[in-house]
Amino acid sequence: MTAAAGQEEQLWSRCAGCASLLYRKRLRRNLDVCPECGEHSRLGAPERLRQLVDPGSLRLLPDRLPEADPLNFVDVLPYPHRLTAARAATGLPEAVLCGTATIGGHPAALAVMDFRFLGGSLGAAVGELITRTAERALDDRAPLILVTASGGARMQEGALSLMQMATVSQAIAALREAGLLTVSVLTDPTYGGVAASFATNTDLVLAESGARMGFAGPRVIRQVTGRALPEGFQTADFLLRHGQVDMVVQRRSLRGRLAALLAAARTGRPAQASVPRQEPARHHERLADAVPPAAADGQRPPTAAVDDGTQPAVRDAWDTVRTARHPGRPTTLDYLDSVFDGFVELHGDRLGGDCPAIVGGIARLAGRHVMVVGHQKGHTTADLVARNFGMASPAGHRKALRLMRLAARLGLPVVTLVDTPGADPGISAEEQGQAAAIAENILTLTVLPTPVVTVITGEGGSGGALALGVADRVLMLQHAVYSVISPEGCAAILWPDRSAAPQAARALRLTAPDLCRLGVVDEIIPEPATAAHDDPAETARRLRAALLANLVPLLDVPPAMLVRLRRQRFRRFGATRAGTQVGAR
Ligand SMILES: [Zn+2]
Repeated sequence: MTAAAGQEEQLWSRCAGCASLLYRKRLRRNLDVCPECGEHSRLGAPERLRQLVDPGSLRLLPDRLPEADPLNFVDVLPYPHRLTAARAATGLPEAVLCGTATIGGHPAALAVMDFRFLGGSLGAAVGELITRTAERALDDRAPLILVTASGGARMQEGALSLMQMATVSQAIAALREAGLLTVSVLTDPTYGGVAASFATNTDLVLAESGARMGFAGPRVIRQVTGRALPEGFQTADFLLRHGQVDMVVQRRSLRGRLAALLAAARTGRPAQASVPRQEPARHHERLADAVPPAAADGQRPPTAAVDDGTQPAVRDAWDTVRTARHPGRPTTLDYLDSVFDGFVELHGDRLGGDCPAIVGGIARLAGRHVMVVGHQKGHTTADLVARNFGMASPAGHRKALRLMRLAARLGLPVVTLVDTPGADPGISAEEQGQAAAIAENILTLTVLPTPVVTVITGEGGSGGALALGVADRVLMLQHAVYSVISPEGCAAILWPDRSAAPQAARALRLTAPDLCRLGVVDEIIPEPATAAHDDPAETARRLRAALLANLVPLLDVPPAMLVRLRRQRFRRFGATRAGTQVGAR
């Protein structure tokens, strides 16, 4: 390209909507909205902030970042190289820009995501920066505004990026409790883990005109369903029609709308904060210090006993993925029969559906009543189809939510059993608000005033797993996996093709030993040789012992302390991870 052509390129740009050639200065004056067809082009975070806040009022928050590349992730490029390139291209340290400012004279804390930076992906640094912004809002008693633009969680940080969905959600829960307004502004595009957490579990959800939001992306949905997508699927107007956003706002009206909402929130008298400000993350109270010693009945199983000589050598991650998906692997209903007694199944979300991929109800564990909720797969193709392969619909997540809240009211502890490839990525799931359903579960679990113990029994697939997985104790069967994305999905995006799934499985650090080292999982439940499906009875015995050993000590912890400790557990991902690096193998 000649210098003259390059200059021409900067002076003019072509509209992605109507292909008109537009004078760039005129386009910028029009807030990057095409004057011919109204197409809203994407904005970087600095320009977005410039458009939204009162001139001169912005104070950026410090962007001291946590350690990058906790997994030593390498696909065709090492992750640090991708980070360096993104920083050079955007001039930003990370995919979010945070600060305090006034809008129409009303103070607010703002976190604005930037899609240009690795697709606005949610990693530990982004989660940490947004969480600190929410904590600043709590300190200042100011509303929080989140402007989202993201393809989802950052694969290169594996399950640690998944944990950020919980970390940010609990910061939003703290603002809810303090009576402070939270607003998200969906901009194009907002998908995956961001959609299924803080983009939709705020008090108000605004969608910028033309923005698309969903749990699953259109490409994935087409691939899974083999169907063409309806006209306008997942666009702002579609979301409004399906009751998922409060309003669709033109860019030129956005600042005025936000100012009006902030003004209304200021006139109301905020409720008194019911939960005290959290301690800084580095002063962890440890659960072990707060609870009595584990039940001294010798039931505690050997923990993390993967290399005690009685177990087979550490398997390749891809072999573990295949074991975790084995059709003979015990299901939630199998465990309800073998581990628990007197299961009484409860059905329905009370809003119009009952999802077969989630089962739940009251049962007894060694004589104590508990609420059990879990994903249900099946052993035969017919079972699997009937249960939608353990992929929950929004109705399934809402049923789980109803049962978890009921448990808290009745003072019953909650046990969740996680075994899902992921949440249902279908068309009707999107119409019924899959992202918001998952987001509400995650947020509710961060503040549920009753003990919660989660066991990853098979596949822990992304947001669908986390929707049942924000717990006081997270246990994992030895050959289960837990990941932000399937190895196949990761390979399709970061490698030339899906055949790289075994490499992706290794890079994602999705096995129980890796996740234990990263602090995502507290304890590994050893499986009998060679795996759970070979000896379901012995697996059940070990699962039962591990559940009792972990649940019983929690029963004596006062609910307020339980919630505080659970929040600290999920606040630590990203804030302090020194010494948790997983060595490259
Ligand atoms: Zn246009």
